[in-house]
Amino acid sequence: MNLHEYQGKSLLNKFDIKTQRGIVAGTLEEAISAYDNLIKETGTQFVVVKAQIHAGGRGKGGGVKLAKTKDEFRQFASQILGMHLKTPQTPGGMEGPGKLVQKILVAEDSYAPDFNKCKEFYFSVLTDRASQKNVIIYSPQGGMDIEKVAEETPHLVYKEFVDPALGFQDFQARKIAFELGLEGKAFKEMIQFTKGLYKAFVQLDLSLVEINPTLRNCNDEIIAVDCKIALDENALFRHPEIEAMRDETEEDPTEVEAKAFNLNYVKLDGNVGCMVNGAGLAMATMDIIKLSGGSPANFLDVGGTADANRVEQAFRIILKDHSVKAILVNIFGGIVRCDRVAQGIVDAYKNMGNIQVPIIVRLQGTNAEIAKKMIDESGLEVHSAILLQEAADLVKKVLAD
Ligand code: GDP
Ligand code: MN
Repeated sequence: MNLHEYQGKSLLNKFDIKTQRGIVAGTLEEAISAYDNLIKETGTQFVVVKAQIHAGGRGKGGGVKLAKTKDEFRQFASQILGMHLKTPQTPGGMEGPGKLVQKILVAEDSYAPDFNKCKEFYFSVLTDRASQKNVIIYSPQGGMDIEKVAEETPHLVYKEFVDPALGFQDFQARKIAFELGLEGKAFKEMIQFTKGLYKAFVQLDLSLVEINPTLRNCNDEIIAVDCKIALDENALFRHPEIEAMRDETEEDPTEVEAKAFNLNYVKLDGNVGCMVNGAGLAMATMDIIKLSGGSPANFLDVGGTADANRVEQAFRIILKDHSVKAILVNIFGGIVRCDRVAQGIVDAYKNMGNIQVPIIVRLQGTNAEIAKKMIDESGLEVHSAILLQEAADLVKKVLAD
């Protein structure tokens, strides 16, 4: 689950991290009163208007603008609120439809009074699977072109790995501040910043926190100017206050619907829909689809209880995706018997009545033979298989037809 910048910043504040101060607004009226309040509270001369969408690269797409007067502010706020913002990271990129901006963050100018005396750094924390450790990635060349920095000058992107048994150590925080060439107050603030950032990552069960830019301002303070946070959804039950921040309008509508039925669904961009029980089997199924020349349209784990109702909901969700050219159902009957699942598939198929794409069903496990017979004798346009390879061959065949 992703958060908006303003939500992420409010969480960071609890970990003693200084953030660019701002007030969120959903209408032009709210924005103008936020502007007045912000100037009163912070004394900032300039005000930044920042589109709140679940995508980065907003600066490049015209979603972050610095207003030097109130008139300019009004102009930027009304322009950005309600726009369909295209950034390199919105679906389809700069050629795509963009994302509707429903909220803006009205923020102080963190670079005042002298933009040129500020220094932008890059920071992120995530889990490095290869080393099985959390890693702090940072760079003295932060800002809007970090991708270019990583590509052209990878030696300027540093990594600090954290030993899971020891946690993030003080000497590591000092090392980072030193590598970034900081001294005095900024050095101390950087230590507080990295310790707070790592603590937030662990305590909030984040899968990613990225602060780009992290700013050393003219007063030698370290400030989080931007904030991207992604949470591990499996740990969300431990953080009800964060769950309340969920913005479903930013998520894929089919994924939201699947969640309501407790189906574990992730949309992908291929042409073969998959319905599987168990995440491991789902991954193997996606591999076999690839090997047979197709490409998975989704990941879908129906879980342990593949009854008619769940199977029907799963079919409905898979079929919302118009790029689906075939569906592969791959269920292992352990606790749930294959004949029950087969009955579920036959019922769902009859109930829906309008399934146009070929369906390949592979049932393995308890009563697999009976299940295959049921499907073969149902009179429906369903191809059945028992071995995974048979199923893969069928996928290849129907895609070729
Ligand atoms: P992103 O483009 O989605 O990553 O959005 P950011 O929050 O990182 O903002 C984009 C860029 O706008 C930053 O890299 C900064 O260069 C600039 N920016 C953000 N906040 C301020 C500010 O307070 N003052 C000034 N002058 N520039 C800012
Ligand atoms: Mn940024």
